[in-house]
Amino acid sequence: MAERSRIKKLEVMVSDVKVEAPDTVTLSLFTGNDKLTYEPGNFLTIAPQQFAALERWVEYLQDLKGKKEPPRAYSLASSPDEKYIAITVKEERYTSGSTPYPPLLSPILALRTPPGTKMVVTGFTGPYKLTDEIRKQNDHIVHICAGSGIVPSFSIIKYDLRMNEGSKHTLVYSNKKREDVIFHDDFAQLECEFPDRFNVIHTLTREGDAFDYNDKIRQGRISRNLLSEAIPHPDSTAVFVCGPDHLPWQKKAAREKGEELPPSFLQSTLGFIDELGIPKERITKESYG
Ligand SMILES: Cc1cc2nc3c(=O)[nH]c(=O)nc-3n(C[C@H](O)[C@H](O)[C@H](O)COP(=O)(O)OP(=O)(O)OC[C@H]3O[C@@H](n4cnc5c(N)ncnc54)[C@H](O)[C@@H]3O)c2cc1C
Repeated sequence: MAERSRIKKLEVMVSDVKVEAPDTVTLSLFTGNDKLTYEPGNFLTIAPQQFAALERWVEYLQDLKGKKEPPRAYSLASSPDEKYIAITVKEERYTSGSTPYPPLLSPILALRTPPGTKMVVTGFTGPYKLTDEIRKQNDHIVHICAGSGIVPSFSIIKYDLRMNEGSKHTLVYSNKKREDVIFHDDFAQLECEFPDRFNVIHTLTREGDAFDYNDKIRQGRISRNLLSEAIPHPDSTAVFVCGPDHLPWQKKAAREKGEELPPSFLQSTLGFIDELGIPKERITKESYG
C-alpha cells in the first residue's frame, strides 16, 4: 500500500449496529463522499465531549481528574476493500472498590448508539500493521489476541487473505467465555474460504470443566505450549499481539500499596514469544490498557 494515511476529521453517521457479544457491538459508519485512506490495523479516535448525553459526565470527571478527557482510540474492524468503515466497541465496566472512575465513552458507544447517530471521528493512524517487509521476510503470521484486542487483527487477517495469495495466518484468541468471542462466525467463514491459509484456535478461561472443548477450542489461558504449537517455525514467523496490559493507574496503585501486579496478557504473551526465540523485530504489539 503505497499511499500514506492522512489524519483528518470526518463527520460520520452510524448506519448499522451489530451485537457481537453481550457487551460488544460493531458500529458501521457511513462517511458520505469522503475519500478514506487507511490501512488494516489502523485506529480512529472519538472525543467524548461531542456527545450531549455525556456533557455533565465529562465536566464532572474532568473536575475530579484535574485534566481534559482525551479522545478514545478504536481500531477499525473494517478493511479498506469494504464499503463502510466500522469500529467494534466493548463496554468497559465499573467495579466498585477497584475502578477509580466510571468508564466514560465505551458504555454509551456499546449500549446506547442507535443507527442514525452522528459523530465526528479522527483518523486514521497506528503502528499495528502488516508491512510488505514483514510479509516478505516471513512465511507465517501468527496473531495472539485477547478480548477486544482482536479488532485490528480481524481487519489485517481478512484483508491479507483476500488480497495476498501467498499469505498464511494463524490466530490464537483468548476470551473468558464462548459468548464473549467477537467475530466467531466471521473467522469460521474465513477458515472455510481459506482452509490452507488460515487457522483459528480459541482458548476460554472461564467456561469450566463441563464445556465441550476440542482441538479448536482449548481450556485455560494462552500457554507457552499452545504458542509453540501455533508457531512451529519461529525462524520464519512474524507475531502480532494485541490485548490488555496494565493501565498506568493500576501500576501506580500497586506501587503505593507495595504490591506486585500479576503479569498482564501482553506481558505473559511477550514472555512466551521471547522464550520461543522470536526476536523483537518480528513482533508487532498494541496494548488496549
Ligand atoms: C490503539 C488503541 C486501540 C483501541 N481499540 C479498541 C477497540 O477496537 N475496541 C475497544 O473496545 N476498545 C479499544 N481501545 C480501548 C479504548 O480506547 C478505551 O480505552 C475503552 O473503550 C475505555 O474507554 P472509556 O471511556 O469507556 O473508559 P475510561 O473513562 O477511559 O476509563 C477506563 C478505565 O481507566 C480508569 N481511568 C480513567 N481515567 C483515569 C485517571 N485519570 N486516573 C486513574 N484511572 C483512570 C477508569 O476508572 C476505568 O477503569 C483501544 C485503545 C487503544 C490505545
